[in-house]
Amino acid sequence: MVFILTGCSQSPVVKETRTLMDTFCEISCYSNDKDKAISAINAAFKEMERIENVFSKFDENSEVSRINKLAGLDKLSVSKEVFNLTERSIYYSRISEGAFDITVAPFMDIWGFVLRHNSIPDTDAIEKALKYVGYKNIELKSEDMSIKFLNKGTKIDFGGIAKGYAVDRARDILISRGIKNSLINLGGNIFALGNAPGKKNWKIGVQDPRNKGKLLHSFELTDRAISTSGNYERFFEIKGKRYSHIINPITGIPCQGIISVTVVADSAEEADALSTAIFVMGEEKGLNLAKSIKSIKVLILKEDGRIILY
Ligand code: AMP
Ligand code: MG
Repeated sequence: MVFILTGCSQSPVVKETRTLMDTFCEISCYSNDKDKAISAINAAFKEMERIENVFSKFDENSEVSRINKLAGLDKLSVSKEVFNLTERSIYYSRISEGAFDITVAPFMDIWGFVLRHNSIPDTDAIEKALKYVGYKNIELKSEDMSIKFLNKGTKIDFGGIAKGYAVDRARDILISRGIKNSLINLGGNIFALGNAPGKKNWKIGVQDPRNKGKLLHSFELTDRAISTSGNYERFFEIKGKRYSHIINPITGIPCQGIISVTVVADSAEEADALSTAIFVMGEEKGLNLAKSIKSIKVLILKEDGRIILY
C-alpha cells in the first residue's frame, strides 16, 4: 500500500476490496443510503473489470492482445475506447518528449516483466527491440477508427495509463448513481470524490517506501486524483542492483535515480500517465514538464534521499 488514507469515519461507510488489473482495488463510499452505495460500488467494479478485459496484456483474447497480433500486418479497426486512449497516450508521449510511450511493450517482454522470468537481456536483444519502440510507429486513422503499426514488431502496453483511466470511469459510474463522497484506489491510483465525512476534503498521505511508518507528505484533495509510480513494488534485483518495471523507451533500460513520483491532477488518467512520464524523465526534465502544466502537483523521492515537492 502506497497511501495511508485518513479521515473520520462517523458516517456509514461501505467499503469493498477486490483484485483487479494485477493489483488491489478498494472503493469506499460514504452515504446514508447503504443499498445505493453497495449497488454503485458493484457497478463501478463491473466497469473496471470490463476495462481490464479490453486492455489486459496477460489475456490473449483482450482487444489489446488482438491489436498486438494484427496491427503490425495491416490496419485494424478498433473500439472507440481503445482508439481514444491510444490517441491520448500519444499526447502524453509528445508532451514528455517520448518518455511516456505505450510502445515500450517489447522491452517489457525482454526484461521479463510479462512472463515474470526477470533477467537482464543482452545488448543485441535491446538493440533489436529498440527498432520496434517509439510512438511514431503508431498510425491512427479517425475516419475508420483504425490502428496500424508501421513496424511489424511494434506492440503496445497500457500499463502506465490504464489503471488511471479505469479509476476515472469508476468515478463516473459512482457519480451517475448519486454518490457524492468516495475514495477509489486502484493500486495507488486514487480518485478522491467529494470529501471525507465531517471534513472539507480528503487527506491523503504518501507513505515513505523506505520507512512505512512515516509520511513523505500529505495532500488535501477534493474531486482530484493522485497517482504514484515507484521502483519499490514491481522490480527485480540481480547482484544487488534493482531493475524497475518502468523503462526508458529511448535506451531500453529500466529507469534509475528515482524511488517514486507522485502526481496530483484533475483526472486519475492524467496523474497516472504523468507520474510514469516524470519517473522516466528524471528530476530536471520532469520538473520542467510539471511546471508547464498549471493544474498539477508533483512529489519526487530520489534514490539519494532528497524529496522534491513542486
Ligand atoms: P506505472 O506503475 O503507472 O508507472 O506504470 C508502469 C507500467 O507502465 C509498466 O509496468 C509497464 O506496463 C508500462 N511502462 C513501462 N515503462 C513505460 C514508459 N516509459 N511509458 C509508458 N508505459 C510504461
Ligand atoms: Mg502511470
